[in-house]
Order: sequence, then structure tokens, then C-alpha cells
Amino acid sequence: MHMPPDAPGGGGGGGAGGGGGGGGGCPMNNKPFWILALAAATFTQACGQTPKPSKTTQQAPTYTVMKSDDEWKKQLTPEQFDVLRKQGTERAFSGKYVDNHEQGMYLCAACGQELFSSDTKFDSGTGWPSFYQPIEKTAVAEHTDGAFGMTRTEVVCSRCGGHLGHVFDDGPKPTGMRYCMNSVSLDFKKK
Ligand code: FE
Repeated sequence: MHMPPDAPGGGGGGGAGGGGGGGGGCPMNNKPFWILALAAATFTQACGQTPKPSKTTQQAPTYTVMKSDDEWKKQLTPEQFDVLRKQGTERAFSGKYVDNHEQGMYLCAACGQELFSSDTKFDSGTGWPSFYQPIEKTAVAEHTDGAFGMTRTEVVCSRCGGHLGHVFDDGPKPTGMRYCMNSVSLDFKKK
């Protein structure tokens, strides 16, 4: 069996914990793929487990707010650091905003930029807070995430580059998009 040198040999797994999120609605691309099988045990959640193939060096984008890992660690909780800075994913149904129905604004938990209005939040049933659009197109940036043979679109805060989640095209009207976010990446400002 031949494994490329950058195969994620079982690292990852950071916050996967008990899995549990069974049957979430975030679809993963289900083409059979050897690496998927390899990872299946560890990455059972639907929404965005993005173990980092650390050697895939895309050109690092620059953001208005740029900090070192050490600086982020001082500011963020360990879970926030894992998700926002290391592309982790919180466990389905574990986040504090999944069932938040209050009116207000969701901000980036790392830099405070306004990202999503409660007006665009909907109950996706996936266990992650979901929105059909950001407050402005420029509030977030999107990157192709090709980890594990799946092509997904990662969503980050456009100001600090913090990982928020992924976006899928199976959302409700009017946009048809589903921004599947991690609660831990967000703060909520009540209206
Ligand atoms: Fe941010």
C-alpha cells in the first residue's frame, strides 16, 4: 500500500471526540476514495471536519488582522483556537448557537467583525448554526477545501482569516446556500 508522504496518518482527529453527530445534514461528497476510508473512523461528522494536510501550501492570504499562533492562543479558548485557527470542527449539536433564535448579529469570535444576521439564520437540522447568506459578501472569504478527496468550500472571516465553517448549495430560498458555521467561531450580539 502506497501512501503519499503527506497522508494524514491518523493525526487530525482533534476535537472529534465522541462523534455522535449521526446523520447530520451537511453532505459530504460520497465518492469512494481510499483516503476517505482511512479517515472514516475519525471523521464521522458531516459538517466540516477539515484535518489539515499541512504540506499543502497554498499561498497564504493576507488579512487586516494577522496574529501569530501564540498571540491567538492568548486570546482564544483552546476550542476556539482549534476551530478558528486550525480548521477544526465542533461536535454537532454541541454549539451554543445551534438553537439560538434571538434577534441579533453574529460576529467573528476572533476579531469581532459582523458576519451574519439572525434574519438569515435557519434550522438546518445539522447541529451547526446555519445561515443562507452573510451580512455582506465581503464579510467572509471562501476557499476551496480539497481535503480527503472532497471538494468543499471553506468559509473564513475576511478580516482575520478565522475558520468559520463551510458553505453548501443546498440551502433554502432566497439564496439556496447553506453557510454551516461553528458556534465556537461566533459571538452573538443581541439586538
Ligand atoms: Fe475575524
